[in-house]
Amino acid sequence: MNALLFLGTLVAMEGVAWVTHRYIMHGWGWSWHKSHHQPRTGLFEKNDLFALVGTAISMSLIAFGADELGPTWWIGWGMAGYGFCYFIFHDGLVHRRWPLRWHPQSGYLKRLIQAHKMHHAVHEKDGALSFGFLYARPLPELKRQFQELQNRKG
Ligand SMILES: [Zn+2]
Ligand SMILES: [Zn+2]
Repeated sequence: MNALLFLGTLVAMEGVAWVTHRYIMHGWGWSWHKSHHQPRTGLFEKNDLFALVGTAISMSLIAFGADELGPTWWIGWGMAGYGFCYFIFHDGLVHRRWPLRWHPQSGYLKRLIQAHKMHHAVHEKDGALSFGFLYARPLPELKRQFQELQNRKG
């Protein structure tokens, strides 16, 4: 049951991340996220604050359930697990913020990387696509949607 709570949270976090990215980061949180759609000048960017908030929430949940290893302990670790995957994939594989000798040339990971690069093809708050981090639709579908968005912009 507890393993389920952990894994369920990890999977559900992709949905939470999608909604956050689509409606908060590309919404009222744009002033933080904007930095991630522009060239980085230093080691950090304002957008990292989102990861910090996520870490604070997950650590609080873990601390809260620590006495009897209650549900929040497992949920907190599920969130942390997602954060770890995000760190490997997003900051490592896609943006290469830390040295990683892994360059997927094919398969799902390659698709995921290209999908996120398409997200970065748009530098504004509006009109972006592909907001997920660990799940992406097939590339032909994304390319079609990208064209539609470009056409709509005129
Ligand atoms: Zn974005
Ligand atoms: Zn990114």
